[in-house]
Amino acid sequence: MKGLRSMRTGPTTAMTSSGRARSMKEQVFSKSDWLKRLRALAGSTRIYVPVKEPEFHVFRILGEGVEPDFDYRNTRLSPKAIIYPSSERLFECSLDEKDPACNIFKDVDKDRTPLAIVGIRPCDAHGFGIVQRNFDNPEYKDPWWVSRFESCTLIGLGCSSPGSTCFCSSVGGGPFSEKLLDVLLWDLGDQFMARAVTQKGETFLAQAGGGAEADQVAKKKAEEVEKSAAKRLGRTISADRIRGKKINDLFNADFWEDVAFGCINCGTCTYLCPTCWCFDIQDEVFGKTGDRIRNWDSCMFPLFTLHGSGHNPRDKKVQRLRQRFMHKLKYYQDKYNAGVQCSGCGRCVQHCPVNIDIREVADRMNNV
Ligand code: SF4
Ligand code: SF4
Repeated sequence: MKGLRSMRTGPTTAMTSSGRARSMKEQVFSKSDWLKRLRALAGSTRIYVPVKEPEFHVFRILGEGVEPDFDYRNTRLSPKAIIYPSSERLFECSLDEKDPACNIFKDVDKDRTPLAIVGIRPCDAHGFGIVQRNFDNPEYKDPWWVSRFESCTLIGLGCSSPGSTCFCSSVGGGPFSEKLLDVLLWDLGDQFMARAVTQKGETFLAQAGGGAEADQVAKKKAEEVEKSAAKRLGRTISADRIRGKKINDLFNADFWEDVAFGCINCGTCTYLCPTCWCFDIQDEVFGKTGDRIRNWDSCMFPLFTLHGSGHNPRDKKVQRLRQRFMHKLKYYQDKYNAGVQCSGCGRCVQHCPVNIDIREVADRMNNV
């Protein structure tokens, strides 16, 4: 498949060996100045920033009274909903019999407002790349996802202190990975150092007024922050051996009942995950109009696979749990030959109420 990056970038200032564009100069912004510039840009671009409220961080639109907090580990919900809302109207139609267009569905206008997610972590940007293979590929393009993603600039904030549940480096990313990002920021204490990774990123920094050129002291500091972050990453996973295993051997492995025993099918793991994309489509009637709406769904819910006939091919929770891990760690690898369907953000590990850990499941699958 064509490089995901090249599917969304324009002309470049310089090309790396991986084909990505890169600005040759890093810029620095004092933190207070950076915020002022973001606020000035917020008139023309819908800017999402991390905000603490009150227990967890969440991405909110930068507006009056909204105070970003970039000193955070990550948001509880991934930012996938900014591009792929949990509930979205796709089509609408009139149900008024006097209307000549009665019962004829038409597209709802696509939202093409320029967006920027400022402070997104590299694992979540990588998550968009993983999901992009499903929504934007040579055979199929989801116009709603694609139009929003193409309107969006990803301003990543390198992760200076990864948490104990993070494992981005084992799944093709890293705390300072530039994958899918347009700009990468380093937190240097009272300053951010910024590097444009794409032309889109260059444009964003130019629109923000540009910063002072980073000197050797700032670059050295950034290097140290990166090294220290890499050392903090704890447990890793390896999914390489899973690729070589036979599907049936994994499917019929004897550990699934054991893993599924405590699962309460709450769906938390899939709703928080930046790389889960399952949805359901419902038609709703409101007076004389009808809407076709797409809603997030979850393979962990029994209704997800319930057929109209009443038959359910995955009516047991062990079947649903196995599907989640087989899709993430086996089927996705086999289908796309591009790693696993996981960016190592660690949310499912951190928030599963019964401590089911994808890293342990990967180990078990590796050892089949
Ligand atoms: S978060 Fe944990 S308990 Fe809830 S569905 Fe996922 S694996 Fe099961
Ligand atoms: S599977 Fe878990 S660790 Fe991997 S991207 Fe999803 S929430 Fe993050």
